[in-house]
Amino acid sequence: MLRNILIGAGLLLAVILGAAWWLLFSDTKAPAKAEGVMDVAAWRELVAADAGQGPTSIGWLEIGHDEFPSIAVQAGRFAAPVPMSFNAFQLVWPDRTVIIDTAVDAETMEEMSQTPAAGFDPAAYETLLDAMTRADTILLTHEHLDHVMGVARHPDPASIAPQLALTEIQRGALAPFTRGGMLPDAILAVPALDLSQPVRIAPGVVVAAMSGHSPGSEVIYVQRADGAEFLFIGDIAWTMRNIDDLTTRPLLLNLLFFDPPEVRANIRAQLRALYDLKQSDPALTLLPAHDRDYLQGLVAAGTLENGFAPAR
Ligand SMILES: [Zn+2]
Ligand SMILES: [Zn+2]
Repeated sequence: MLRNILIGAGLLLAVILGAAWWLLFSDTKAPAKAEGVMDVAAWRELVAADAGQGPTSIGWLEIGHDEFPSIAVQAGRFAAPVPMSFNAFQLVWPDRTVIIDTAVDAETMEEMSQTPAAGFDPAAYETLLDAMTRADTILLTHEHLDHVMGVARHPDPASIAPQLALTEIQRGALAPFTRGGMLPDAILAVPALDLSQPVRIAPGVVVAAMSGHSPGSEVIYVQRADGAEFLFIGDIAWTMRNIDDLTTRPLLLNLLFFDPPEVRANIRAQLRALYDLKQSDPALTLLPAHDRDYLQGLVAAGTLENGFAPAR
């Protein structure tokens, strides 16, 4: 009897350990090759005639922040909690602006908060909402709650609708984030952005579909007026370290957070492609949406401006 109990307990433990390994460590490493996944040559070609006419500066506006456990950010990483930023970016020309991502509102930040370190900047959120009404184009790297609230809950949807450049997939995901569960007519009336091919959306700016983290994920390639290159990668990687270590989030997050789940094969290939891009084009700055330490470092280095440009 005791022997059977011990065998049963041993088997149960083995199953639990196996499941834990599967959820935390399996399917997280990038493949050896991912050719053609990040076709930066094609994006450069689309803006070849724009040399010197890209944005003159890029601003980073932090609206919320928190810390995530390192093991959630990167499989197998046991370290201090990772600072996470929730933010929006602004591409600035003398005569126009493009906004990339629209962050979280106070309520969403509160619901998402994991630690006492979490914070929300109401003035920064107001700055974003106002800047959206004056922008020429508003893009979303993807349709997750921490990137879309400025669109889904904007107090004056008609004032931002003409600027929205959302794919059908992105827009189709927004209704549950609105206050009333339905998108305003003004937003529904805007033509969808067709990303069946990469598209030049402004001088020096190209948007390309990159599904995997979510169905409506995209990357945004930017060639600044001074020739410096940037690639906004949304949540393909939460931190630069995911790219450097060729390792993504644990599969467990697919069960807990992502609905629909991430397409892991796409994410893993994209990580490899970003790693390769970092080696082949070290001057191109990758911009993962949430890597707070890294983004603060880019501000300190003068690569990004802190905050949005004043209203003109
Ligand atoms: Zn996301
Ligand atoms: Zn995100």
